Amino acid sequence: MEVIARVKTKDQFDALKESGFKGDIISSVKSGLATCGFFADNFDELAILIEEKKKSEMRDFRIFAGELLYSYNKEAINFFKELVPQIEFIAPSELTLDELKKLEKNADIKFAYKIYGHQLLMITNQCFKKNYFKCEKEAGRNLNSQEFIKFKNESGSYLALNECSECKTRIYNAVPLYMLDKLDEFSDSKVLLDFTVETKEEIKNVLKDFNSETLKTLPKAEEISRGHYYKGID
Ligand SMILES: [Zn+2]
Repeated sequence: MEVIARVKTKDQFDALKESGFKGDIISSVKSGLATCGFFADNFDELAILIEEKKKSEMRDFRIFAGELLYSYNKEAINFFKELVPQIEFIAPSELTLDELKKLEKNADIKFAYKIYGHQLLMITNQCFKKNYFKCEKEAGRNLNSQEFIKFKNESGSYLALNECSECKTRIYNAVPLYMLDKLDEFSDSKVLLDFTVETKEEIKNVLKDFNSETLKTLPKAEEISRGHYYKGID
C-alpha cells in the first residue's frame, strides 16, 4: 500500500515530518508545501501544473486530479490522461468502492483512495464571515487565515473555511471520513490521508491509527463517516 498525505498548512506539513511520515506529501499549487507533487481542483490549477512541468527542473513532480475535477467515468479519465499522461487521480467521493474498483480496471488507472479526512461538500461564493461576523478583508486582517468555523443545522455539523482573499467559503463535513480500521479494502492501492483542519496532535493520532496493526480503540460510530464507499448516492 502506498500512502500519500495531503496538507493545507505548514504546521500540518511539519507534523508529518516530525512524526517520521514516510509517504509523499502533496498540497495545492498555491500553498506549495509538497514533497512530491500537487493536486488540481480546477482547470486553472491544472494548466499551471502543466506549464510548470514543461519548464521545470523538477519535472518529475506528480500531478493529481483532485475530487473536484470530473473523473467519474472512463471518458473523463482518458481526457485528463491525454492532457497529462502521468496524471494520477484522487478517487471521486461520490462513487462506491465497488464502482471505483470497476472504474480502475476499465480505465487502467489506480486511484488514490481517501482513507481519512473531512469531505469537502461545497464551495460557495458567499463570504461566510461577512454574513455572520465581519469579513477579514473589511477588517483588514490576515487574508490567508485558515480558521475554521464550526456550525450545525438540522442535517448535520459542518466546518466552514473562509478564504477572504476571494471571499469564498469552503464547507466541509465536520465528521471525518475514517477508513483506518478497513485498510484491508485497500491492500494493493494508493491511499490518501487528507488533512484540512487537523492540529499537530490530531495528525499524530491519525498516523498512530494508520500505523497500528490492530486498532485498540475505534472512534464512536457517530464521530466518523464512511463517505459513499459502501452506500452510493440515492
Ligand atoms: Zn470575506
